[in-house]
Amino acid sequence: MTANLLLHDDRTITLRGERFSVCMDSEMIQNRVAELGARISVDYEGKRPILIGVLNGAFMFLADLMKKIRIDCEVDFVKLSSYGAEKISSGVVRELKKIDADLEGRHVLVVEDIVDTGLSMQYILDIMHSQNPESVKVVTLLHKYEATEVHVQLDYVGFRIKNQFVVGYGLDYGQVGRNLPDLYVLDPHEDDS
Ligand code: 5GP
Repeated sequence: MTANLLLHDDRTITLRGERFSVCMDSEMIQNRVAELGARISVDYEGKRPILIGVLNGAFMFLADLMKKIRIDCEVDFVKLSSYGAEKISSGVVRELKKIDADLEGRHVLVVEDIVDTGLSMQYILDIMHSQNPESVKVVTLLHKYEATEVHVQLDYVGFRIKNQFVVGYGLDYGQVGRNLPDLYVLDPHEDDS
């Protein structure tokens, strides 16, 4: 099988034939995740929140974030349809895996890797609110603030980024690249879309 991921040095990679370079390294990400975890620990003291990770992209962020939360908390997952192998949002969202937990009366914290148009998050929030939780908040590692099509309340944001395609730290390009510990951005001269 031909490799889709080629590591050139510690700053650049080729993924599915396109060149990407580091935009946030692992240390920068981990520092911010620790800050978010500390804030969430204070805000949810005594509330035993349930973290709802959005598969697949948020799994790595969720795992690191949970380790920085110093209060009782639970976890469950929801899965939505994704971009497939594309770099731009299709705008079509479907639920592929439902939440197993009963959210009635619970403090729900949705954990997302990236909010782009906001359509997926709006869809998820509708699902959450339909189950009568006590509260619903959102934590996202990344927010593409220029790409917003629908406004959704983002309570905790790791980093605000420009409208560029990113991979690594759980985020994929056609299912590869999720295992990279750093975040990479498509080199501008490579992106003619
Ligand atoms: P939205 O519905 O907000 O347009 O898109 C949200 C979902 O699209 C994210 O959960 C993520 O799976 C995917 N997505 C959005 N932007 C990017 C990106 O730059 N890189 C990757 N790999 N996925 C993205």
